[in-house]
Amino acid sequence: MILIGPFRQLLPMTGLSLRGPLSDARLPILKNAGLIVAKGRILEVGGFATLEAKALKSGMDIQHVDGDFTALPGLVDAHTHICFSGSRAADYARRNAGLSYLEIARAGGGIWDTVSRTRAASAETLAALTVERASRHLKDGVTTVEVKSGYGLSVEEELKILRAIREASQSTASDLIPTCLAAHVLPADFRGSSTDYLELLSHELLPAIQKEGLCKRVDAFVEETAFSASEIAPYFTRAKKLGFDLTVHADQFTSGGSALAVKLQARSADHLEASTRQDTERLAKSKVIATALPGATLGLGCAFAPARALLDAGAALAIASDWNPGSAPMGRLLLQAAILGAAEKLSHTEVLAGITFRAAAALGLEDRGTLEKGKQADLVAFPTDDYREILYQQGSLKPVANWTKGIRLSSNKAINS
Ligand SMILES: [Zn+2]
Repeated sequence: MILIGPFRQLLPMTGLSLRGPLSDARLPILKNAGLIVAKGRILEVGGFATLEAKALKSGMDIQHVDGDFTALPGLVDAHTHICFSGSRAADYARRNAGLSYLEIARAGGGIWDTVSRTRAASAETLAALTVERASRHLKDGVTTVEVKSGYGLSVEEELKILRAIREASQSTASDLIPTCLAAHVLPADFRGSSTDYLELLSHELLPAIQKEGLCKRVDAFVEETAFSASEIAPYFTRAKKLGFDLTVHADQFTSGGSALAVKLQARSADHLEASTRQDTERLAKSKVIATALPGATLGLGCAFAPARALLDAGAALAIASDWNPGSAPMGRLLLQAAILGAAEKLSHTEVLAGITFRAAAALGLEDRGTLEKGKQADLVAFPTDDYREILYQQGSLKPVANWTKGIRLSSNKAINS
């Protein structure tokens, strides 16, 4: 058992609704607060002086935080593709010179380059690359990272990637949440139709994943250049019957994917840059979490998802990085969330909710995203006594320390055990 604190401000992110707008006036802020952690879980959150008296009485260890620090729940990135090899700097140059994402894809460039390089890499190399990226994310305060497969595009290669993610998760303090995105695009070397490919995934890949316990989530790219909603529907229905959670790459360039997400009660519909008013209203009436991916907007130089409209309609908005080599190479969640907030006029509370408890909900994780009794003790501390500095500085204010399951990863000597 250990007491951590005092934090000048501690944002527990509790008592806030999962859906709809959130005003900063209702954001709970605990001043000079601390928390007691045992076995990786939070036992108590409250005023530091009271908790300290308790700790001294019982002989509990105290981890003092000496400085003006603000604590938040560890950040959750609910959508990434960080298990890949290679770089797509050439595509970025081509795109900025005038070729569109769709044109590059139609010309056979784009994703196939990453697929070839990822197939050529061993599971060990992919695991090491994933650990490296997850570690960088952790330094930015991201303690839970969803990681998709999707650059293998055959039964064996997708299994290799999912095994690499599992191996990576054993070598990092972050929690990696794996997702099968074998339905990313029809592989260029597949002999058959989209339906044939999805049948193969249904009957060979998904049972193999279950046999090895490699992941519990299935994603698909519903788009003109990938799969249509009517092609994906039977694949998703089968995945759901097998017990997988669903998530969808939806409405990135054309509308359609989010309607399927609602129809099949997916956990989340991600992207939504091309969502229509009807789409946002449909999402708002459903239990599907709407996940905006500002990193893809910044990478492609296109529109942001209609985050304000989604919240105003009553949707639950998560914000994720979409870190991937093709369209979102930056991989800086906090920076991107701050920019989305400025562009879409989101309150600080809405932005912070989008990368904490609302993001956790997009992953179906009820044990994190807030700082309260019983939750996993994942937290991040920023060097400020005013939480507003965190988004104001748009990602340039870096955490001084993180705790995952109550264990500290510190880059600042002011925090002592
Ligand atoms: Zn994505």
